[in-house]
Amino acid sequence: MQKKRILITGAAGFIGSHLCDRYINEGYYVIGMDNMITGNIANIEHLFPLESFEFYHHDVSKFVHVPGNLDYILHFASPASPIDYLKMPIQTLKVGSLGTHNLLGLAKAKNARILIASTSEVYGDPLEHPQTESYWGNVNPIGPRGVYDEAKRFQEAITMAYHTYHGLETRIVRIFNTYGPRMRVEDGRVLPAFFSQAIRGEGLTIFGDGSQTRSFCYVDDLVEGIYRLMLSDYAFPVNLGNPAEITIRQFADEILALVNNPKAYIDFRPLPVDDPKQRQPDITKAREILGWEPKFDRKTGLALTYEYFKKVVTV
Ligand code: UDP
Repeated sequence: MQKKRILITGAAGFIGSHLCDRYINEGYYVIGMDNMITGNIANIEHLFPLESFEFYHHDVSKFVHVPGNLDYILHFASPASPIDYLKMPIQTLKVGSLGTHNLLGLAKAKNARILIASTSEVYGDPLEHPQTESYWGNVNPIGPRGVYDEAKRFQEAITMAYHTYHGLETRIVRIFNTYGPRMRVEDGRVLPAFFSQAIRGEGLTIFGDGSQTRSFCYVDDLVEGIYRLMLSDYAFPVNLGNPAEITIRQFADEILALVNNPKAYIDFRPLPVDDPKQRQPDITKAREILGWEPKFDRKTGLALTYEYFKKVVTV
């Protein structure tokens, strides 16, 4: 029997590469695609010798051509850390809008089911807490995060339009802060920043007073939720994340305790513009529809992630 064929965009990225691994292990033929502006080839190198994997170096904001049939598409290409989308605002807008349009067109042409990666950023600096999928959000369209937030909101809109008007099989996941091995050391997000600073014996740069909260999900849990969502018949957005909420100050203390480098210290810095004050997913829907909930607590997930950063952070 022919293997199911899946296209994964953003394949060399943090989450994309874990998805490639998962689908290979599930017996799929995986076509990875990435333009490598934030991807890292080391994340997928181990897949290149496999017969069930191929890779296209391509920017999905331009017309996407894939020979042969496709059963599924996972659209995970996008700069995703605040520093990246500040540096690449136009690419961020284009991959969420033009890139998504191209991939929806491809899905329609191939009669494939498509799952797109949306984000908790569609809720902006939320005035509802925790965030349920029915909350419409509090986003500043012209602030520094607007390029990402609005690209993702447009992405959801056009995906629903293809679903409604073309009957395309679509899935939307709203991903909350996720962490694990293969995050880029210099991507500017809080976990790679704190781990590399702690390992190097530098100051852990807490932005603001550290009272803002986030809820961190281990990548294997996220991948399991995405895998289940793709196989479900639910076309509306689903939150995936770990509801265990923590202040950034507490998070710094946990990483300091884990790395245990006497030279590391806390270094308060100014809070970036429009930095959300709190973020916690309501995962009732994922529990009900997918029978999913996170299995990795932060202690376990951080220990696994520390093993990775020990190897890749240069002191
Ligand atoms: N943050 C921090 N120090 C850093 C990087 C981030 O205190 O070196 C804070 C940031 O201001 C935010 C939180 O940590 O409140 C999470 O930031 P991240 O960039 O990881 O992602 P976000 O959840 O804001 O998209």
